[in-house]
This record gives sequence, C-alpha cells and structure tokens, in this order.
Amino acid sequence: MKLKSLLILSLLSCMLPARAFDAHIEMVNFGPQDQSKIFKAIKAIKKVMSSDEFKKRILNFTFRGEKKFLDNKGHSNEVVFQKILEGGEELYPVKNGQMDMELELMESESKTVGYTYPDTKRIWINRKFFDSFDTADIANNLFHEWLHKLGYDHAPDYSVERNSSVPYAVGSIMGELARVYEDQND
Ligand SMILES: [Zn+2]
Repeated sequence: MKLKSLLILSLLSCMLPARAFDAHIEMVNFGPQDQSKIFKAIKAIKKVMSSDEFKKRILNFTFRGEKKFLDNKGHSNEVVFQKILEGGEELYPVKNGQMDMELELMESESKTVGYTYPDTKRIWINRKFFDSFDTADIANNLFHEWLHKLGYDHAPDYSVERNSSVPYAVGSIMGELARVYEDQND
C-alpha cells in the first residue's frame, strides 16, 4: 500500500509544471529609471531561462573541441545548467530556482563593469557602463555576476580563452538571447 502511494506521489510530482525561474533583487543607489532598466533585464532573463534555446546552448557549449566550459569547477555542461536552474548561491544555498542578488550602483573611473567578492551577496555595478548599457547588456552583466555567486570564477586578466569560462560564456549566451527574446510577447 505504502509503495503504491509513494509511486503515485512521485508520478504526481513529475507531472507538476516546473516553477518558473524567478529573481529577488535588492537595489542600493538606483534611481527610478535605473531600477526600471534592471526590471526589464530581469524580465528578459526570465524569458531566456524558459526557452529551450538557452538550455541547448549551454549543453552544447564547447571549449577546445570538448563539450565543456573553462573554469567549470569540474562540472559538466549538464551540471552547470542544473546549478543555474537550482539557483543555490554559495552564501544562500537554498535551491529556490531564484537569482538572489543585492546590487549597488557605484561611480568609478575604473574599467571594471562590475565586481563582487565571495564573502558578500552584494554586486557592485559601475554607473559609467550601466548608463550606456541596453537591456541585453545588463542581462549579460547581471548573469555574469550572479554566476560568481554560484561559485564560478575566471582569470582576472583578459584572454580569448577567458571568454569560455562559465561567467563570461553563459553571460554572453544570456545577453545574446535576451536581445532576441526581450521584445517577444509573454
Ligand atoms: Zn567576473
């Protein structure tokens, strides 16, 4: 009897629709217009996350002829995709299918678009770049920084190879698809 009800339960949970990917963003130093740029980017990210194309692009990504990312923490493309879906940040490891982030807009003359540290959930974004970014650029940047929160890193200095690291490669895929999907109807 027990086995039967367990079986029914697991069948039921398979049939339930997957909960849509979500985001919970706290913003510091963002004016109303800045906030609306973030909201648009989040909306685009959600559309991309629900597309088959995003999954396909992650699973089929290749680095040096192999299906893998650089700086992947030993994770296969499938695992990288799974980690993204789960949304368990290192500092908030609840697998809630959600991007949990705290953003601060800051003024800096540096060439850094954004940065964060492993011991904080806050991500700093350089206004100099943010002001000229469109929705897809912001989606790329937010996703890049969020992937750091999931524990993926990359070399500090530019190289062509670095573009194949999880934050750069997946961020770029996100930005590219956000540009395609952002204006499509929900
Ligand atoms: Zn980075």
